[in-house]
Amino acid sequence: MKVGIKLDVRDGEYGKAVFAVERITTGTLIAPFTGPFLTYAQTNADTYALQIGPDLYIGESGGVDDLFNHSCDPNAWVRIQGRSAELVALRDILPGEQVCFDYSTIMDEDDFTMRCLCGSGLCRGLIGDGRMLPPVVWDRYVELGILPEYVKQSRVHGGPSRLRGPSPG
Ligand SMILES: [Zn+2]
Repeated sequence: MKVGIKLDVRDGEYGKAVFAVERITTGTLIAPFTGPFLTYAQTNADTYALQIGPDLYIGESGGVDDLFNHSCDPNAWVRIQGRSAELVALRDILPGEQVCFDYSTIMDEDDFTMRCLCGSGLCRGLIGDGRMLPPVVWDRYVELGILPEYVKQSRVHGGPSRLRGPSPG
């Protein structure tokens, strides 16, 4: 197994961004998310927090894993297994390409929105919770298998389980 993917952090047009140094092939583990666990109540709009469960987040680690930007045409995705999460290549990523994932794939808060300037032809403009994704994007992500269960459940039930009362998990 290949470990220790080389990445380059540079100041981009919209703050720091992470770039591939060498070719990263589909399915490669790019980086684990290593920050502290947080709940929704412990996060706010100004802090970095990666959602990995209905009421579970990973906060800032101080490392490269804090710096992956959003794209509406992502080349990576967040694989969540229990309480661990890691960034994985969704397709081959070429040297010099920015490494990005679609924030909506993991977001299920009911109050998350972000203006997107990713510049992709697929850009949705306003980024929100995963359950709000346009059907064509949703279907593609389901097919790719990159949506976590809590996001799928939220689309079925019309809102985050955090707001629906106690959950078994
Ligand atoms: Zn965009």
